[in-house]
Amino acid sequence: MRLEVRGVSAGYGAKLVLDGVEFEIPAGKIMTLVGANGSGKSTLLKVIGRLLKPRTGCVLLDGKAVHSCDTAELARKMAILPQLHHASGETTVRELVGFGRFPYRSGFGVLSARDREVIAEILRLTRLEPLQERKLSTLSGGERQRAWIAMTLAQEPGVLLLDEPTTFLDIRCQFEVIELVRDLNRRCGITVLMVLHDLNLAARCSDFIVTLKGRRIRHIGTPREILQPEILREIFEIESVVHVGADDIPYCVPTGSVKEEDNKNGDGGL
Ligand code: ADP
Repeated sequence: MRLEVRGVSAGYGAKLVLDGVEFEIPAGKIMTLVGANGSGKSTLLKVIGRLLKPRTGCVLLDGKAVHSCDTAELARKMAILPQLHHASGETTVRELVGFGRFPYRSGFGVLSARDREVIAEILRLTRLEPLQERKLSTLSGGERQRAWIAMTLAQEPGVLLLDEPTTFLDIRCQFEVIELVRDLNRRCGITVLMVLHDLNLAARCSDFIVTLKGRRIRHIGTPREILQPEILREIFEIESVVHVGADDIPYCVPTGSVKEEDNKNGDGGL
């Protein structure tokens, strides 16, 4: 599914966080949103996922405004995994994945044969079959995050929004999560928009990277186009050296923060 963000302004009370944000993600691509803390990444994901109403502008899914979609209809098209999510530690992996079938249920009915089929397929795809009867409280951080992603997939969405899905995970689990996302994107053609802090992870798994600063989108491009010292200086106020690996994927090595006197062109974030 194609996702378009058109002229979105949004904020909280008197505070304007996004002002005229405009970009689109082609169907079946992975786009990662990057920016400094407080630049509005989560706010933008919330507006796209309809958790926050924009003041102006709209979000279109295959040309249809998400804010005028019926809730169940939207949940069958788009799934969001916010930064903070919670379920009882007593919930099993299989139950959690089953929660993702809510847009297909009528009332509180039992799972249909189709629901059970989808859940089984997702447990297989996410390699959670051996853990399906385990309670969430007994899982490692990486396994738990995989279970949450599996829950969003049970919605069978065309678009998946992930807010910092690798936070608090060790480096191996971070790779596992982004490899899973990449794999699902390749196999199922899901369009993905995620927020990641780690630029090198973003470069490894994204078709496009989009940068946010000063309430607006500043750059959109391939990882090679975005991982450039001058762009990283502008967005993150860091000095860096960028290399390109043998696999053609760029990676950056931050070497320090930009000092005030060197930052005459900075606008101080928001
Ligand atoms: P990011 O995800 O890039 O770190 P956020 O979207 O979380 O940024 O926050 C952008 C700005 O909006 C910050 O200044 C933050 O303090 C503010 N903000 C976020 N959520 C709320 C809220 N619920 N109420 C008031 N201000 C908020």
